[in-house]
Parts: sequence; C-alpha cells; structure tokens
Amino acid sequence: MTLRESVCWANRALRTEGLVTMHSGNVSAYDPETDTVYIKPSGVDYDTMIPEMMVAVSLTTGEAEGKMRPSVDLPHHLFLYRNDPKIRSVIHTHSNYATAFAAVQKPIPLVLTAIADEFGGEIPCAPYIDNEGDHIGQGILKYRTQAPAILLGNHGVFAWGATPKDALKAAIMVEDVAKTVHLAHQLGDPIHLDPAEAAKWWDRYHNRYGQG
Ligand SMILES: [Zn+2]
Repeated sequence: MTLRESVCWANRALRTEGLVTMHSGNVSAYDPETDTVYIKPSGVDYDTMIPEMMVAVSLTTGEAEGKMRPSVDLPHHLFLYRNDPKIRSVIHTHSNYATAFAAVQKPIPLVLTAIADEFGGEIPCAPYIDNEGDHIGQGILKYRTQAPAILLGNHGVFAWGATPKDALKAAIMVEDVAKTVHLAHQLGDPIHLDPAEAAKWWDRYHNRYGQG
C-alpha cells in the first residue's frame, strides 16, 4: 500500500470502526522523503472516498495540490508533524465515549491493564482550546504525556503513531477503554492501578508482545 492508500484506508476505517459520524474526523500521514502530508478531503462522504481524493500538502509551505480542499483540521496535523519528528500519522475524532470524558474535562483514568499497555498511564485531557492558528497543536504538545493520544476539553480526541495503522489503533483503543471505564463508573468507583504496575504492563506490551 502507498501512503496515500493507507491514509484513505484509515479514514474509511474511522467510519467502519464507529469512531465518526457524517463528515467528522480525519486521518493524515506524513512522508518526510517527499515533504508530503496526505490528508482527508473536507466534507466528503466516507463511503465514496478513494485514495485519489486524499489531498497532498507540502509540509514546508502548507500548500495543497489538486482541486480537493483538505480537512479544515489540516493546520493541527501540520503543526504536529513540524514539531515532533516521531509523529508520522495523526487522527482526530469525536468518538462518543472518549468525547464524553472531554465534555467533562476529565482524563481517562489508569484503571485497566489495557490502558497501561497502550498508553502507559491515564489518557490526559487538555482544557478547552479554540481552533485559531496553532493553538490546538500547541495545546496537544503542552498537555500530552507518553500516551499516543490526548483528549481536548469540550472537543474530542487526537491520536498519533508511526503509521496510519498505529494511529488508528490508538484512536480505537481510546474509545474502547473510555467505554469500559464509563461502564465501570455505573458499578462503582473504578480502582486506580499503581503506576509502577502500569510501567510493567507498558514494558511487556512494548518490548515483548506480538511476533516481533
Ligand atoms: Zn474536531
């Protein structure tokens, strides 16, 4: 798959995974060799999206190629690529359970081993940030932790990774654990995991899990 194709695949997956509704949400990825960011076009139905519609943008100039207009969230994606070379793919959603935490400006607490595995600690929540200029990008860098995702107060989720697949996994896991923690709250007060225990789960998952 080319990077353009993976960006289209991940955008469509937002819909099939139930993370977005109508035209909300977007995925991008960055290819440093060609200085190109591929991002979802603005206001296009997910089920009609094809790779050719992904908008190619120069990271240096911020200028888009072709006729399609890029997602209005482009500036936040560009800011993250310009300021953290490890980030190669960015996803933004308003997925329901995670965004419910954002609505009350609460982090998703460290109460599950799955949270320790994927995020290493609680998933932080930034305060409300307006969408002018680089405010959202700056806020993400200011309030993020080691976790590859953050909640933005009163708004939604940003997740990232080395590839669209990694960023998609983070976006899916944020929603999955938010749902479980919400259900746990119906039963009582969720019990916090010891950060030292969480570090062990994180280490195992990042260094020994899977097929290498
Ligand atoms: Zn948004």
